[in-house]
Amino acid sequence: MFLEIKNLSKTYSNGVQALNNLSLDISTGMFGLLGPNGAGKSTLMRTIATLQEADQGSIHFDGLDVLKEKHEIRKILGYLPQDFGLDPKAKAEEMLDFFAVLKGVVDNKQRKEVVRNLLVQTNLYEHRKKNLGTFSGGMRQRFGIAQALIGNPKLLIVDEPTAGLDPSERVRFHNLLSEIGENIIIILSTHIVDDVSELCTKMAIVDQGTVLFNGEPAKAIDSMHEKVWKKIIDKKELESVKKQYKLLTSKLFTGKTEVRVYSDTPLDNGFICAEPNLEDVYFHYISSGRE
Ligand code: ADP
Repeated sequence: MFLEIKNLSKTYSNGVQALNNLSLDISTGMFGLLGPNGAGKSTLMRTIATLQEADQGSIHFDGLDVLKEKHEIRKILGYLPQDFGLDPKAKAEEMLDFFAVLKGVVDNKQRKEVVRNLLVQTNLYEHRKKNLGTFSGGMRQRFGIAQALIGNPKLLIVDEPTAGLDPSERVRFHNLLSEIGENIIIILSTHIVDDVSELCTKMAIVDQGTVLFNGEPAKAIDSMHEKVWKKIIDKKELESVKKQYKLLTSKLFTGKTEVRVYSDTPLDNGFICAEPNLEDVYFHYISSGRE
């Protein structure tokens, strides 16, 4: 399976350019789309999900023209949007049954089976009679995945699914995503670096509507070998470090500040070489892109 996005551009009527000639190839497996808030991720997700038009460019999925053959794409698409409203009084099982009807699962017996399996898969079976209004954030997101999986999609889009989840809910949601299978394309849009490092074999970093990096997280981390340097400093030194070096991150560490900076050449002055991680990669590309 292959999703090919070519030269996609979108400017909203208020003049904001959300996508700027963006191209991306995505193959089977879990793909992480990583970028800060406002990078254009949701715009891209909604465009692939046929919910909004682009000004220019094309998207193809296994020979289908996504922007033109919307009806065909919707048959093989599962979408978990960033914000989705649910009737708080509806019960999980009833609502899922309703969504399954909308997706065209008309046979009663088959639909019962589909709904049951999805509730089991998303660990919601014991909550099936509960009102959706009583669900926690994590349960809501798992319910969102259950509805997105109706009809066995070949392309599953999940937009910022872990924002607002507590750590244990996040782990549960990650486990669920990783169990869905490697035989479909899953696009996970997120601003959380750990979502990508824990789940995705391929990724892109986007900012200001363009792709800054596209490849494997592990290779990207390798490419930063001996280029990340760290030092514990006094908070008051931070401004001068920012002026002098390419700052990646600064974090409080037992009351002191640990800075990580990027440099192609070895640094002295108290800096030591650090093991690179995906966060370093992310901030390196974002700051280079904005320079
Ligand atoms: P992300 O999902 O990465 O946070 P978005 O695609 O939501 O990014 O937004 C990209 C940019 O487009 C932002 O500057 C945002 O404010 C703007 N934007 C998004 N949707 C609209 C809209 N419907 N009308 C006008 N501007 C929008």
